[in-house]
Amino acid sequence: MATTHNLGFPRIGAKRELKFAQEGFWKGQLPERELQQTAQTLRARHWQAQEPLDWAPVGDFSFYDQVLDTSFTLGHIPSRVSNLAGTELDNYFRIARGRSKGDSDCQCVHAGEMTKWFDTNYHYIVPEFSADDTFTLNPDRLLAQLAEARAQNVNAKPVIIGPVTYLWLGKSKDDSDRLALLEKLLPVYSELLQTLAGEGVEWVQIDEPALVTDLDANWQHAVNLAYHTLKSAPVKLLLATYFGELADNLKLTCELPVAGIHIDAISAPAEVSKIVDWLPSHKVLSLGVINGRNIWKTDLNRTLDWLEPIAAKLGDRLWLAPSCSLLHVPVDLAAEQSLDPEVKNWLAFALQKLGELSIIATALNEGRETVAVELDANAQAIAARQQSERVHNSEVRARTASITQALGERVSPYAARAKKQTARFQLPAYPTTTIGSFPQTLDIRQTRRQFKNGELNTEDYQARIKAEIERSVREQEALDLDVLVHGEAERNDMVEYFGEQLEGYVFSQYGWVQSYGSRCVKPPILFGDISRPTAMTVAWTQYAQSLTAKPLKGMLTGPVTILNWSFVRDDQPRSETCKQLALAIRDEVQDLEQAGVGIIQIDEAALREGLPLRKSQWQQYLEWAVECFRITANGVADETQIHTHMCYSEFNDIIESIAHMDADVITIETSRSDMELLDAFDDFNYPNDIGPGVYDIHSPNIPSQEHIVTLMSKAGERIPAERLWVNPDCGLKTRQWDEVVPALKNMVSAAKILRQSA
Ligand code: GLN
Ligand code: ZN
Repeated sequence: MATTHNLGFPRIGAKRELKFAQEGFWKGQLPERELQQTAQTLRARHWQAQEPLDWAPVGDFSFYDQVLDTSFTLGHIPSRVSNLAGTELDNYFRIARGRSKGDSDCQCVHAGEMTKWFDTNYHYIVPEFSADDTFTLNPDRLLAQLAEARAQNVNAKPVIIGPVTYLWLGKSKDDSDRLALLEKLLPVYSELLQTLAGEGVEWVQIDEPALVTDLDANWQHAVNLAYHTLKSAPVKLLLATYFGELADNLKLTCELPVAGIHIDAISAPAEVSKIVDWLPSHKVLSLGVINGRNIWKTDLNRTLDWLEPIAAKLGDRLWLAPSCSLLHVPVDLAAEQSLDPEVKNWLAFALQKLGELSIIATALNEGRETVAVELDANAQAIAARQQSERVHNSEVRARTASITQALGERVSPYAARAKKQTARFQLPAYPTTTIGSFPQTLDIRQTRRQFKNGELNTEDYQARIKAEIERSVREQEALDLDVLVHGEAERNDMVEYFGEQLEGYVFSQYGWVQSYGSRCVKPPILFGDISRPTAMTVAWTQYAQSLTAKPLKGMLTGPVTILNWSFVRDDQPRSETCKQLALAIRDEVQDLEQAGVGIIQIDEAALREGLPLRKSQWQQYLEWAVECFRITANGVADETQIHTHMCYSEFNDIIESIAHMDADVITIETSRSDMELLDAFDDFNYPNDIGPGVYDIHSPNIPSQEHIVTLMSKAGERIPAERLWVNPDCGLKTRQWDEVVPALKNMVSAAKILRQSA
């Protein structure tokens, strides 16, 4: 008999109930009691939904982040909050969000750093380590959730992050080796497992996804040491890995003294048979057979075809689960009322995925005929998707098939282009610009909402957006910026805006996925071949240009970013989908050029995030990602200036690829690093123009003119002044006008001072 379980359930709620409760609590509008009540209701609802499973996860719920929860469980919180007054929840949110002046009880602290959870779009709070850190067990949160689950008769399997992954996820604050802390950490894990055993827990899921990354010998040794130490604990450990292949950690993992392992059979299908053969016969093997990272229905019959022989071999030792926690998918497809019914029939969200898991288990345990109706319906949906004309567009296919290298090449090399562009635009030294968006005021958001709901007709909508564009242009002229933008008032989101206008996309109403804390994203669903029925940005850009004699920069989102921030199809390689996006955006670039827009920015905010977990796969990704950017951008005349923007600053290990993109100007985030991160460009002799962000747009602080001059002088030590631009770190959409105007004023006057000494 195969056993079913789940690794984790999305906690935000099908209607984002947790988000609204958290935000109410933070604003002081909701008492803690009610926040706790919402949390409890959600947990109860989610366990009930998982009732058909043999084991449901407990401890996967979080008020903010599971890594931060782990830090609390291990009694390991930054010393800057440990002595502050208030409840544990206060301290918890202090680390999660920071607390600044203006808060009533100000016990000001800065937030913990946040970073991406492996290669997902979920962000966790980075544990901070120092050599003299200590750990003490604080199991209350976990035990309370366990008691709740038990009261609901849930077959509870507590979920914790394993000691090695916990250390791996963190950062050393004093340059000490964080692995050296393992020795102090393990007794707390032992005690935790003892405590859970004392509560009658049989299985504990211990997550060690660090095992799918490149681990050196020290880390591999730590894994061994950890589990040899923990093996005496009186519970059964199910060691869970996900998101990739174990590769060189495979043998190590199979040999660990644990009662079972979980592997991600979706991202590591080729390893399954090896593990089935290698795993000692007393161990359970949990296979993640339902994709926990996307929203497509599983092909159940095909899955059963390869699972049946494995089930025959493993018998009771086979467990089945989604590939990873369902945190990364929306909750319930049934809530969607306006999804295209044809496409909806191809989809599965968290609840539907658990349904698929039950069908697979029933088919294995009782024979396929017991679920013949379900399997049949699934087969029909899978076939419908495969055959749908909405998915396959022969024109698009023919176009991608005929892509040649020449398509991605500019007419002349950078130096020759730069001369022509200088002649065309006549910009001063240290030209100033912004990254694209201006404040998204309440008024703008309301305008868009009313238009979407049909409360505003097209004519009125356009008039209002035009008024916003005009306001932005006038403000920029008054500020005396050199290259202007239209301000992006018409865009809700830099990916959704384009997705909505491309053929091959659908949008959900409630397809929210937690990004961090209370913040959720609703990735558009890319289901079919991508084409662009009509121009998407030309009219707004042209209107903006008509208002000013200064050059106006057209704004587009690049193909790699659109890809990485969408749910994408699983029936072709990502690179193929990206090429289709590249051609569609290329058409937009050329339409803008035709319309007289001389400067075009193509944002690739998410290019770096798409890097695979294993370094050995980076080159392949970078090759097609950069090629797609080149296809999008480089079909223009020498006189047309291409900008790109990336909101991060670690370029050391990808600088060659960045240079190969060959954008005339790249704007990046650097202000917080004191320009040191330009070293990568300097060392590489990066040849084209660079606009290092001179102030952090995430903060309401107004940067001083002196500070900007100092930063730019530091930049000038690394990059020749004639190739430097002056601009903020990122778009200004989250700021207020009364922050933006003084900040940009200082920026422009700083540029003018720099010019005098140039
Ligand atoms: N052009 C976008 C903006 O200004 C870029 C946003 C981003 O890089 N995340 O908002
Ligand atoms: Zn940015």
